[in-house]
Amino acid sequence: MRKKIVAGNWKMYKNLAETEMFLVDLKKQVFPENVVVMIAPSFTNLNQAFKSLREHPVTVVAQNMHQNNEGAFTGEISANMLKSVGVNTVVLGHSERRAYFKESSAILAEKVNTALENEMTVIFCIGEELDDRKKGSHFELIKAQLSEGLFHVSNDAWENIIIAYEPVWAIGTGETASPEQAQEMHKFIRKTVAENYPEEIANKVSILYGGSVKPDNASEIFGQADVDGGLIGGASLQVDSFMKIVNSF
Ligand code: PEP
Repeated sequence: MRKKIVAGNWKMYKNLAETEMFLVDLKKQVFPENVVVMIAPSFTNLNQAFKSLREHPVTVVAQNMHQNNEGAFTGEISANMLKSVGVNTVVLGHSERRAYFKESSAILAEKVNTALENEMTVIFCIGEELDDRKKGSHFELIKAQLSEGLFHVSNDAWENIIIAYEPVWAIGTGETASPEQAQEMHKFIRKTVAENYPEEIANKVSILYGGSVKPDNASEIFGQADVDGGLIGGASLQVDSFMKIVNSF
């Protein structure tokens, strides 16, 4: 049985007071037992979120980290720093990091290694731009992102890897991939993993969909055979809409 996961990516939203308000409300909610729920606040709020959720099933996740364990990298955050505040899971390769911060596949491969060496779980994001889809090169691009950023890892490492497919044209745009488009790509991703690793690894890895998932489209998307949950941006910022999505399986 693959894990069902809903992870909220808060991006650069919510200061400490707003984070605390969200957490007070979140802790009053009843969570389904079969869904792993995660939230990714900004770095400044990770410590507080972890402390607040210590006795709670919601996992606190970082949105990024540096590929080096330490050093003269002003403004950056290391795996060790994340772990020291209780964070053991990190999102890597989000399309906003790739686009605005020029994170290449080579850098992402290093980040993946550093996270795994530090015994962290990685949510590895991949996704094509609208142009790639229009040209019909989206499958090729996804394959390249997987092989350049992820397929160097050992078989054992897959215990700690989650893939998030996020078509860039659907992130924050209100435009969602249709359930059929999502399923088609998720099936392709699983097949591509199976071409490079034992089939049981491909069958076991959770593949999340991300891109304008909302309470009214989540259940149809999550109902697809190869979709194991979602990475949620905008709709994860309010407890009400986030919980509706968490309860959409
Ligand atoms: C995201 O940030 O990963 C995302 C999917 O955003 P949104 O749900 O707002 O499209």
